[in-house]
Amino acid sequence: MTTDRTFNVAVMPGDGIGQEIMPVCLEILDAVKSRVGGFELSYIPAPAGAQVYLDTGDAYPQSSRDIAAQADAILLGAMGLPSVRYQDGTEITPQLDLRFDLGLYAGVRPVRSIPGAPNPLSDERGQAIDFVLIRESTEGLFASHGKGTVDDNRATDTMVITRDTCERLFDFSFALARRRKTEGKRGCVTCVDKANIFASMAFFRSVFNERAALNTDLDADYAYVDAMALNMIRRPWDFDVLVTENMFGDILSDLGAGLIGGMGMAPSADIGDNNAVFQPCHGSAPDIMGSGKANPTAMILSAAMMLDWLGLRHDNSRCVKAGALLSAAVDDAFSGNRLLPHELGGTDGTAAIAGAVMAALRGLDVPDGL
Ligand code: ATP
Repeated sequence: MTTDRTFNVAVMPGDGIGQEIMPVCLEILDAVKSRVGGFELSYIPAPAGAQVYLDTGDAYPQSSRDIAAQADAILLGAMGLPSVRYQDGTEITPQLDLRFDLGLYAGVRPVRSIPGAPNPLSDERGQAIDFVLIRESTEGLFASHGKGTVDDNRATDTMVITRDTCERLFDFSFALARRRKTEGKRGCVTCVDKANIFASMAFFRSVFNERAALNTDLDADYAYVDAMALNMIRRPWDFDVLVTENMFGDILSDLGAGLIGGMGMAPSADIGDNNAVFQPCHGSAPDIMGSGKANPTAMILSAAMMLDWLGLRHDNSRCVKAGALLSAAVDDAFSGNRLLPHELGGTDGTAAIAGAVMAALRGLDVPDGL
């Protein structure tokens, strides 16, 4: 008899609503794992964040860093509280440390409208919004984090773009577009930059062109970031995979979340060559913590991305199927306008949405043929 592969998942609920959406997410993960079978999940708590800083004086203890580095995947709720800061006034951000420590260069931000879930753009042509924004997550303008200079008259932050990271970022983007093409998507990667103004961005685009030349089965396209902000509103259904610099991606990914109904609907992953963190796009939302209003959808969809990534990476098709089932259960729960989260003006909070996803999970068949 073969034993099911156990994946070790470092669990970082973090702060604010992270503490509320993580427990329901783990219950749902257990349910999907039991439905599909063929793999096990072991959760290893890795405390970090503002509350841990208040309790211990260290926001991201070495023990948690070690757990994160050794885990098969990392599941994160949300970190930081505006009221808790380091002495220099900056916020507590172990989620940024994770990206730099583990080299998680590919920030994957799916922008997919869930049929039946309200979204601010009505698409008269009946086309769904379904693109993925890849935000470079270890350099760009964020390379200056903690290194900027300031005196009485002048402040500077420096943008850093390296060939090595660009090559891996673009290869990741083309590989994702290739997989999406097998699912009937366009197979097109759009480089989003400001190559007409900055040397760093012209370099970004030139490396993109080199990698595009190695992926001629896919289309390559270009957009300036300002035009992309316009077109994400005017015609978001036209895009497939967008790849961009860290700061541009930071801004465009919140715009993307807005396109699909708000922060509580937007999942994400930060992926490197050997590790990955899965977390909702939103922060700890202190304004609603403790109220039961937090929408757990982004957290649940991030967990579905984790199952897909683990399954592909370890050649475990049951785990890939579990990810697809979980994503389908979210779609099913929202179908027919049955859920309206608080952030969209409704009355459905954490318990109602998690309960609906759990019920949908029980009713759906496990997808076959993946
Ligand atoms: P950070 O800087 O840590 O990313 P932020 O300042 O962008 O955080 P969020 O914590 O993401 O802010 O919250 C922005 C707004 O969105 C708040 O009004 C918050 O209540 C709301 N919000 C965020 N996440 C959710 C959620 N899961 N469910 C409901 N509302 C949410």
